[in-house]
Amino acid sequence: MHESHDVVIVGGSYAGLAAALQLGRARRSVVVLDAGKRRNRFAAHSHGFLGFDGGSPDAIAEAGRANVRAYSTVELREAYATEIRGKLDAFVVRTDSGELRARRVILATGVVDDLPGVPGVAELWGRGVYHCPYCDGYERARAPLAVLASSEMSLHQALLVSEWTTDGAMTLLLNGAFEPDAEQSAQLARRHIAIERTPVVRVRDGGKDRVTVELDGGRTLEVGGLFVQPKTRIAEPFAAQLGCELEQGPMGPIYKVDPMLKETTVPGVFACGDVGAMMPAVALAVADGTRAGISAHRTLVLPTH
Ligand SMILES: Cc1cc2nc3c(=O)[nH]c(=O)nc-3n(C[C@H](O)[C@H](O)[C@H](O)COP(=O)(O)OP(=O)(O)OC[C@H]3O[C@@H](n4cnc5c(N)ncnc54)[C@H](O)[C@@H]3O)c2cc1C
Repeated sequence: MHESHDVVIVGGSYAGLAAALQLGRARRSVVVLDAGKRRNRFAAHSHGFLGFDGGSPDAIAEAGRANVRAYSTVELREAYATEIRGKLDAFVVRTDSGELRARRVILATGVVDDLPGVPGVAELWGRGVYHCPYCDGYERARAPLAVLASSEMSLHQALLVSEWTTDGAMTLLLNGAFEPDAEQSAQLARRHIAIERTPVVRVRDGGKDRVTVELDGGRTLEVGGLFVQPKTRIAEPFAAQLGCELEQGPMGPIYKVDPMLKETTVPGVFACGDVGAMMPAVALAVADGTRAGISAHRTLVLPTH
């Protein structure tokens, strides 16, 4: 006898748990599979999620798990999904501990950050090296800040991040990624952003909430925060296995979804949170998961396909 559920949710972080909450309240049989690798697990604090501003990312997720555990039809399971096949009403999800059948699948697997290869960046990720000024800018406001360029898009990041520091305390470290043209240089000058062309050799913890940027030739720069723009990728093979279309998000591929319903291009497969979002944030992942949970439920009840 196969284990069978109305919905299997792959990914039990903010988006997946929010979807599970809706489905649990609709009294549907749901299993949430989670491998426990939230994208923000490197950070000590999470900002900008109303009601939890400044809380630990794990505590926020645990509060979500506690809410979902209250519904007896939802099971939270520590497991890693390896393969998903099938079609509407007949999906098969293979995990490292067995196989499940489901009528609907919700993918809430998040994305993986491919960090710039500069030595030290990975070690300080979420603890001095950041990507989102809305998440981490306020705490560093007025300290000198820097953006480590990885493409021409870093120009916009530098212009934006400069909002969180004082005039003249912001540096764009080009590191050979691009060369600003006259108009771009003027934009940087208007926001009093210094351009540094010397290659970056490494970054390290400078103590006292500072990051030390070591430049080629021995010069160093002390900053309160270094901002980078990692490319993102979907680590799981489910899109190819199920035939879901992807589209280009700002930093990497994401699932193509109906913005309202969160359904992918394959009927019965939903994607929510960072894996299907143009803008990553805990609050948006929760909103997305809520939509996906409600939509998946409605397709179990209403004749839409
Ligand atoms: C350093 C850092 C700091 C951040 N700070 C903030 C902040 O302050 N405020 C804010 O709003 N946002 C912040 N973010 C963004 C935030 O982390 C994401 O927007 C949010 O985590 C997205 O939630 P999610 O549920 O979509 O995915 P995730 O939180 O990434 O969770 C995905 C889950 O799916 C699981 N999973 C993946 N594949 C499988 C599989 N095959 N089987 C089983 N489980 C699987 C993973 O293990 C993980 O638990 C930060 C991000 C980073 C990297």
